[in-house]
Amino acid sequence: MKVKTRFAPSPTGDLHIGSIRTALYSWLFARRYNGKFILRIEDTDFERSKSLSVQSILKGLKWLGLNWDEGPYFQTQRLDRYKEVIETMLKTGHAYKCYCSPEAIEAERSKQISEGKKPRYTGVCRNLKTQCANKKYTVRFKNPTFGKVIFQDKIRGQITFNNIELDDLIIQRSNGIPTYNFCVVIDDLDMNITHVIRGEDHINNTPRQINILKSLKANIPIYAHVSMILNENGKKFSKRDNAENIIEYYKRGFLPEAVINYIIRLGWSHGNQEIFSLSELKKLFNLDTINKSASAFSIKKLLWLNKYYINNLSLEYISKLLTNYMINQNINIKKGPDLKSLLNLYKNRFHTLQDMACSFRLFYEEFESFDIKFINKYLILTNLNVLKNIYNQIKNFSFWKIEMLSDVIHNESIKSNKTLKEINMLLRVVLTGNVCSPNISSVIFLLGKEKTLLRLKKAIFFINNKI
Ligand SMILES: [Zn+2]
Repeated sequence: MKVKTRFAPSPTGDLHIGSIRTALYSWLFARRYNGKFILRIEDTDFERSKSLSVQSILKGLKWLGLNWDEGPYFQTQRLDRYKEVIETMLKTGHAYKCYCSPEAIEAERSKQISEGKKPRYTGVCRNLKTQCANKKYTVRFKNPTFGKVIFQDKIRGQITFNNIELDDLIIQRSNGIPTYNFCVVIDDLDMNITHVIRGEDHINNTPRQINILKSLKANIPIYAHVSMILNENGKKFSKRDNAENIIEYYKRGFLPEAVINYIIRLGWSHGNQEIFSLSELKKLFNLDTINKSASAFSIKKLLWLNKYYINNLSLEYISKLLTNYMINQNINIKKGPDLKSLLNLYKNRFHTLQDMACSFRLFYEEFESFDIKFINKYLILTNLNVLKNIYNQIKNFSFWKIEMLSDVIHNESIKSNKTLKEINMLLRVVLTGNVCSPNISSVIFLLGKEKTLLRLKKAIFFINNKI
């Protein structure tokens, strides 16, 4: 049996962390067994489906490197096929037309609820002798009324449903469009899907889908229902979290390697190992060690992993990612030092590309103003001469060497009777607008003579005008 898995999102909003995890599991499972991974867009809900959402799904998958072998298939392009199966099912008696109006269904529902019963369609039209011409209808699947649906979930073990609890599912709406649950079944069947790996919110759909497959005498795929991911507070993600959309992580400067490593570990484990490369995962991944319980999201852990990958992947690769990131932030990296040198100097300090871009910006653009707390502490009269002396010495440099910069700072410390630390802090504020930076001589070296002199001059001017 050739393994075939699918990722089948509905394009009704953002691509969420939870969806990405089922995509990742499906993708890895297919890769592990040299199978195929299919992308299918379930867009039969016309009112809620958006093409922007499709773009965002494709973008998210591409960013993480989850390539698909077939598709994307769009359900809206397969409507004729669904119609054909529904016609056959109507003929064979596995489906029937239901003429009940939405009002009648709603009235029945309210009555059942008021009587304390579980609301369900009671099957008025199930055995109609004559069909009504010219009347609007839905098509319902004739679910068996006795027996059980039993399936072995790869994550949760055996799951049993009594058929009597499942009412006759609508498979075609009154507007002629087939419903989600039906399309999924026909797609999984036509596309020879062997393993359906999806969120646990689909468990209740599974017995209905199995019954439809059985009525079509089709093979039943293996199901694996993955648990939820909860937010930092152990609750369901909400829109307010703004932490669910995968594209956010791209925007915030996370690396695909870190995101994949993080997401896979939300629910799957291999001993106590924390760090996994993709090639390793392709060999190790299986469905058997996926956790049944919900997993809680932790941004701290993701940041830790991201820092790990920034420090451990090649400088070449990180600098390529950072270049693109900075270009997207409209930072002109041609107007400053080589990014790789900057990275080398700063690498161990950052958690995300966003942090880096934010800090590196000052090497390419002038910063607007000094922070008030630094003004009062550093941009003061007693520092004026130090800045002037350093300015004059650097101005006369005919070479640009890091050792010469260290000497200037050192000499100025002796001359002005200030500690090296004091001088370094002053230069950090003046040249980078901040008090934390790596070795200041290295920073000055990368900043270059022109920008350094300009910023020293700016600070001198500032102090002079403050008085
Ligand atoms: Zn009916």
